[in-house]
Amino acid sequence: MDMGIRGRKAIVEAASKGLGKGCAMALAEEGCDLVINARTASELEATAAEIRNRYNVQVTAVPGDITKPEIRTAVLAACPEPDILVTNAGGPAPGNFRTDTRERWLAALEAQLLSHVEMITAVIDGMAERKFGRIVNITSQSVKMPVPNLGLSTAARMALTGFSSTICREVAPHNVTINGLLPGPFDTDRLKGNFSHASKVTGKPEDELRQARMNENPSKRFGTAEEFGATCAFLCSAHAGFITGQNILMDGGHFPANI
Ligand code: NAP
Repeated sequence: MDMGIRGRKAIVEAASKGLGKGCAMALAEEGCDLVINARTASELEATAAEIRNRYNVQVTAVPGDITKPEIRTAVLAACPEPDILVTNAGGPAPGNFRTDTRERWLAALEAQLLSHVEMITAVIDGMAERKFGRIVNITSQSVKMPVPNLGLSTAARMALTGFSSTICREVAPHNVTINGLLPGPFDTDRLKGNFSHASKVTGKPEDELRQARMNENPSKRFGTAEEFGATCAFLCSAHAGFITGQNILMDGGHFPANI
């Protein structure tokens, strides 16, 4: 299926690795020109080169921390009129709510909520005027289902979900959509970090924890960044204009819901 977005301009945040990279790859495969961002300039440039070589689209790399206002300004300067925005940033490390400091809370709210709110606010009216816009927030399965030790991250992601759900109705008449894409366990550096933390807390080897997590998933495996990216590309496609305010869970069937 042709997604109908060839030549569209997309910003993908936090995209040198993992799920953000998966989304960038899939959008490039559909012919979108990209502005991608991540903090580590060398890895970001390597990803940009990989995408250019593979898909022959324009890719501009804007290195820096997306939670910082000056980096968001630089990203928007590189792509002032985006058709597509994928919001993303590294999640906070797991922690015990009893020892979470106010500073950790403020950092999580900055990274998982306020940075994305500011980017969405900066681009959404232009999208509405141009009568095409697709915004995808990479959040987490924790929006649907509590995950131990991730209360702080979950609270911030649920706030972004509520914000997006509220404003998406305002721009729906203009062919602008906002949806959440909720990863369950995907085989990325982030997931490895979670096992490393759990290993320290429980004293169990990382491999054992990893295998147990796969076994408890109905699909008996973790998701891939390619699968995640393909779903993102569909939500950003010309065909998905009637899907808005939704939160698509990709978790291999782990969350036991009837609907
Ligand atoms: P990942 O493999 O660790 O990749 C994170 C990417 O984001 C890297 O490119 C990283 O590059 C970049 N990044 C991190 N913080 C950034 C910042 N402040 N500004 C700009 N770039 C930043 O992580 P992932 O698995 O793709 O996770 C993406 C999001 O999904 C995270 O919020 C994570 O919590 C969430 N999630 C993931 C899973 C999973 O199973 N993988 C499950 C639920 C939720 P630099 O480090 O160089 O900046």
